[in-house]
Amino acid sequence: RPILAIVGRPNVGKSTLFNRIAGKRISIVEDEPGVTRDRIYAEGEWLNNYFNMIDTGGIEPNSEDIILSQMRTQAEIAIETADVILFMVDGKEGLTSTDREVANMLRKSNRKVILVANKVDSHTPPNTIYEFYELGLSEPIMISASHGYGIGDLLDEVISNFPDDKDTGY
Ligand code: GDP
Repeated sequence: RPILAIVGRPNVGKSTLFNRIAGKRISIVEDEPGVTRDRIYAEGEWLNNYFNMIDTGGIEPNSEDIILSQMRTQAEIAIETADVILFMVDGKEGLTSTDREVANMLRKSNRKVILVANKVDSHTPPNTIYEFYELGLSEPIMISASHGYGIGDLLDEVISNFPDDKDTGY
């Protein structure tokens, strides 16, 4: 099955999205000891397309330096293992220097990266949205992980970017 990784700095809403996509049918498959919190794996499904999902997960937000080095590790893991990387930013807070650093790494990889601006809780795009264009990634897909807005469009985009040679059905 194709693999989807969710990457982003602390508190942008990765776990919220992960749990929403994983839904009820999903069990947490495995934990691995890591430099940060354990990574969590789950199975995701959208319109009969099945995939595996990695929440590169928790970072202890002690200091900007630690966050940055842990984010680099997360990005490396995602680049090595994922077919599609969801890079999540915070549409409420706007762009940060950590977002820029991670975007640099992801851009240099030849992985498919989907930029996701979370916490867009209304239909009006936030003023911050233009900041994310400077990352040089795709146009941000605006979602609200907690309210559920935009998730269908996001998953359509994810599925369409999985490689064809991997069976996404049964
Ligand atoms: P993570 O550290 O990236 O995994 O972030 P979490 O999923 O733990 O979410 C961090 C905080 O943001 C929590 O308080 C969530 O309830 C909140 N949050 C997540 N998604 C949304 C959203 O779409 N809108 C708003 N307003 N808050 C959200």
